[in-house]
Amino acid sequence: MKLEVDAAKLLSEIETLAAISDAEAPAVTRIVFGSADLKARAWLKARCEEAGLAVQQDPIGNTFVRWIGSDPTLPAVGTGSHIDAIPNAGKYDGVVGVLGGLEAIRALQRGGFRPRHSIELLVFTSEEPTRFGIGCIGSRMLSGTLSADAARHLKDGEGVSLDEVREKTDVRGELEAVKLPIAYYKAFVELHIEQGPVLEREQIPLGVVTGIAAPASLNISIEGAGGHAGGVLMPARHDALCAAAELVLSIENAARSSGAVDTVATVGICEVFPGAVNSIPSRVRLSADIRDTDLKRRDGVMQKMESAGKGIAEKRQVSVRTELVNADAPAVCSPLVVEALSESCRKHNLNFLPMVSRAYHDSLFMSRIAPTAMLFIPCRNGYSHRPDEYASPEDIARGTLVLAETLAALSR
Ligand SMILES: [Zn+2]
Repeated sequence: MKLEVDAAKLLSEIETLAAISDAEAPAVTRIVFGSADLKARAWLKARCEEAGLAVQQDPIGNTFVRWIGSDPTLPAVGTGSHIDAIPNAGKYDGVVGVLGGLEAIRALQRGGFRPRHSIELLVFTSEEPTRFGIGCIGSRMLSGTLSADAARHLKDGEGVSLDEVREKTDVRGELEAVKLPIAYYKAFVELHIEQGPVLEREQIPLGVVTGIAAPASLNISIEGAGGHAGGVLMPARHDALCAAAELVLSIENAARSSGAVDTVATVGICEVFPGAVNSIPSRVRLSADIRDTDLKRRDGVMQKMESAGKGIAEKRQVSVRTELVNADAPAVCSPLVVEALSESCRKHNLNFLPMVSRAYHDSLFMSRIAPTAMLFIPCRNGYSHRPDEYASPEDIARGTLVLAETLAALSR
């Protein structure tokens, strides 16, 4: 089979999709079920149908694009990623895996390949947590990690439930039907930009992911007592922001002292109420994100955070409440898929690096129901989730080629 990626077409599609955005170029913003997301979905569906592929949507809006194999009774070989984008993001996160997946299928079609197992491109709903506060809604539901009932009750920042949001779109049906049966996929492989600096630094064009770090996220609310910035003297204060500041540093310290570089903790949101220059903060809301490749170590940081919160609450006479948003286990990638990816790299004389994914992806959840692995390509300076996110045309084409070769190997 002569396998050739049409890089020019793929790149122009990446540009076209980037222009379907709620933000002005070069920034890309596509919030799930917002107008840009819906427009992008329709555009993508048309591209898939152009390629002669059957497009279906499940009740949460995950899109299944199938190239039917010569034995349609066999489990499919899946690939895919997401097209939603956080506010002020770039063009490549998720998109490379979706449009690269589509181009991989077209390249196989042009090469005259005929799969025995069906090959399916899967576009996940809401990989980003922007709207509903939790990431990977689509793949969590496919894997049964998020129940239909829990999903139904998710609310966006305006208090609108996921069900109400769905009603305004053509995404319909019983959420109970989203969960996939085990053995639906023979294998699943996601192509993605690295979102980190390793491949670029090592000058290695491809990363074969052998494991995905375990993420956890928490909302923390701290209640103190407000008052006039001039009137209330220091001994009488219960300043919620000062308590929050101590807690943020203790979270940082817990991660730094875990004994492993793989432990990371971030407080990325800090909302201060009432937020006036002459008013003592009475309430603060923080969000914390804690990750590790090792579950025990990750949970250790969460416990340290919990006990630091208790100590600060007592000392400062404030209340500290922690609400767990999610705490997921890490994924170990499938040796079958890792080997298929590695072999495809070797076949094309491409150097690759076995590596851990520190960001989480839909593959973290797909790994619960299917043998799964990921393929990374470098991105400039490791930048992602910002408008200057960049992956070179050569790297995108290489990743797509290896993806196509891997899909062929797994679907024979
Ligand atoms: Zn992504």
